[in-house]
Amino acid sequence: MKKIKLIRNIKIALSSILFIAAVIGMIWDVNRSDVSLGTGTNPNDVLVMGTEPGFKPFEYLDGTNVVGFDVDLAGEIARDNGKTLRIEQMAFDGLLPALQSDRIDMVIAGMTITPDRAKNVDFSDSYYSAAQKIIVQKQESSIKNRNDLVGKKIGVQLGTTGDILAHNIKGARVEQLPAIASLFVELNTGRVDAIILDDGPAKQYLTQNPKLTMLPDRLSSEDYAIAVKKGNTKLLKQINDSILKLKQNGQYNNLIKKYFGEIVR
Ligand code: GLN
Repeated sequence: MKKIKLIRNIKIALSSILFIAAVIGMIWDVNRSDVSLGTGTNPNDVLVMGTEPGFKPFEYLDGTNVVGFDVDLAGEIARDNGKTLRIEQMAFDGLLPALQSDRIDMVIAGMTITPDRAKNVDFSDSYYSAAQKIIVQKQESSIKNRNDLVGKKIGVQLGTTGDILAHNIKGARVEQLPAIASLFVELNTGRVDAIILDDGPAKQYLTQNPKLTMLPDRLSSEDYAIAVKKGNTKLLKQINDSILKLKQNGQYNNLIKKYFGEIVR
């Protein structure tokens, strides 16, 4: 009798554990909020894109969906190669390590080609030209141009080209944060004197920050490209062929119009 009860209890305990594990698994899946787009001919052939969705209009959240120029571009590349796109979200400075450890197949994140990065990953042809810009408070800012940044407290997104530039400014104290939104809080409350950021997202954030302004100085000229694991020549060729095709058939220009108005670069 006792034995039967014991076995039944063990059974109940085991099924409860399985049930709890299943629920945790479901919650985990939802929280990862991966998105599948661009269903190609073979839904099992998945192309995983890594990005940091705080970089409007290139990648940003619409509810729980990651959307934006880069997402549409990646969707077209996936479709063109008969693959299904999946998106993995992570901090910007985690993207290249994720590529190297095969967690993702490619980085599309408004990522600039730099010589240092190109030592560790392969970059596609460039798909967008950008510049680093300075953002300050409209009133009371002693910073009128790039020379005034000397010795100032500057906010940057960790691991970006803005971060590298800020570290080269004499006597500057650099505050590195993972998300651009937090940089704007820091500048609005005067905890940093300026932000260095890419022009595209800078313009977007300024529309929600009326007390801030962007100075005319261009601190750099940069090219955005898609990064793949070093030596992944097959994927790199597929990406470059697709980019060329999209530029030739007008779809690239349509994306530019969709996200940047009429400016075609
Ligand atoms: N273009 C910058 C870089 O590559 C910033 C990109 C980003 O924050 N998503 O470092």
